[in-house]
Amino acid sequence: MATIVEPQVATYKQYIDGEWADAVSGETYEVVNPSNEEVIARVPAGAEADADRAVAAARRSFDKGEWRNKTQAQRTAIMYEIAKYLQDHSSDWAITESQQAGAIVRKTSVVDVPLAIEHFRHLAEQALQIPWYEPLPWVDTPAVSWNFVQREPIGVCAGIVPWNFPLMMAVWKIAPALAMGNSIILKPSPFTPLTALDFVKAIDETGLLPKGVLNVVTGVGPHAGARMVEHPDVDKVAFTGSTRTGREIMRMAAETIKKVTLELGGKSANIVCDDADLDIAVDGALFGTFFHQGQVCESGTRLFVHEKVYDEFMDQLVSRAKALRVGDAMDFDTQVGPVVNRQQYESILHAIEQTKADGATLLCGGGRAEGVGDKGYYIAPTIFADVRNDSLAAQQEIFGPVLVVQRWSDDLEVIERANNTIYGLAGGVWSRNTRRAIDMAKALRTGTVWINDWHLINSLAPFGGYKQSGIGRELGTYGLLEYTEVKHIHVDQGVPREERFFYDVVLG
Ligand code: NAD
Repeated sequence: MATIVEPQVATYKQYIDGEWADAVSGETYEVVNPSNEEVIARVPAGAEADADRAVAAARRSFDKGEWRNKTQAQRTAIMYEIAKYLQDHSSDWAITESQQAGAIVRKTSVVDVPLAIEHFRHLAEQALQIPWYEPLPWVDTPAVSWNFVQREPIGVCAGIVPWNFPLMMAVWKIAPALAMGNSIILKPSPFTPLTALDFVKAIDETGLLPKGVLNVVTGVGPHAGARMVEHPDVDKVAFTGSTRTGREIMRMAAETIKKVTLELGGKSANIVCDDADLDIAVDGALFGTFFHQGQVCESGTRLFVHEKVYDEFMDQLVSRAKALRVGDAMDFDTQVGPVVNRQQYESILHAIEQTKADGATLLCGGGRAEGVGDKGYYIAPTIFADVRNDSLAAQQEIFGPVLVVQRWSDDLEVIERANNTIYGLAGGVWSRNTRRAIDMAKALRTGTVWINDWHLINSLAPFGGYKQSGIGRELGTYGLLEYTEVKHIHVDQGVPREERFFYDVVLG
């Protein structure tokens, strides 16, 4: 007789004030594996009341000062110790990341998990470079005084993150906030909260952070997330997500004039010159687009190929794209996994149909992948040529495995076209002529440009967007400074009253 094995459904809790908690409402919701549509976990449906509890805990911990009053060397040393513990207790995270996000396990095991821990450690290390005290030049007019700039932690930070790199994005919020002495409440995406909770569980096990410094509220954005953005006791919101939600966050944050950093969407231009090494550029264009099913904010989804190499390049590109193996994220042979959820799946299919109707030429893909069964959100790697730069397909962030291609012939004209978008997150140039490539890189209005490469994000380098791709930067010392306030302190040097003639403007 066949035995029916029920899929295991894990139960998770939120982390508030150093305790594992259910939602105040007692409600939960289900997390679904996009590879097979099975429920893998139940998570508290945190809402406004949960956000309030977490904000109160974060505020208390910040005001008490146990973390913020440590020296930078002490905080960094503690974070190193935490990173070591994370390293030794992260063996299951790659699997959980694949199951919740549809990220292929060969990526989660070599990219997401090791890099997330590495970034945590790097940010703690770079925090040692932050100039907490900066002397200003000696001033003797209008009177002798000693002036300096003192940096301070901002206070209570709310980190709100999307579903595409759930663990990495959580680290990008938690690590700089902690390194700079703040308290933080993380709100993961409702679709992918599990690895952030695993990560925080490991931190909790170390017992190295004071209670309330780190909190996680799970639940949908418009409830828990919006409450955090509007809450008067939250000093900064660090948001990563869509440009649409980013606009909403700015509007909500305006009421309490909060510090806001936004990492938003993109539609990055990838420019292949006629002097590029075509073999590498083809692989780079495929990697730049189909890595994580195109669900990367800085994916190179708008490809510009020089007319002199167009035919040769496109032949190689399309035949390689057709050969990509689409399948279950947990299969080590899979190169392209499912997209994250039904809503995204339908929205990508809709964008594909719209692009066909717009008259673009479909070169491969164009719908559900073949040979993957009926379950799971699988889309075939799709390439369209003859796409007008002003069409929706070239301007809208599709956030799926869809590449749109245009031809070009003139360096200045292609830059103008590349810049003709509301976004400005990233761009790329493929050329053997470094001088030409750097000139083009400088002309691109984006926060990152790769020359003869793609996706290589460096934890020392600032990451963020021009235009509607965001405000502020993450990573590196630029990112850490976003978690500090700047204070000017003026110290009088014993100037006698009779020399303080400026007082006499009022008192004389
Ligand atoms: P999203 O904007 O729908 O949601 C992001 C987060 O915001 C989630 O945690 C969500 O619950 C929360 N949220 C939603 N509405 C909210 C509200 N009214 N108030 C407060 N919080 C709210 O984005 P998504 O669909 O989860 O992620 C995909 C998007 O993220 C893409 O546009 C992608 O480009 C962008 N992204 C940007 C970067 C970057 O660094 N620039 C990185 C990754 C993803």
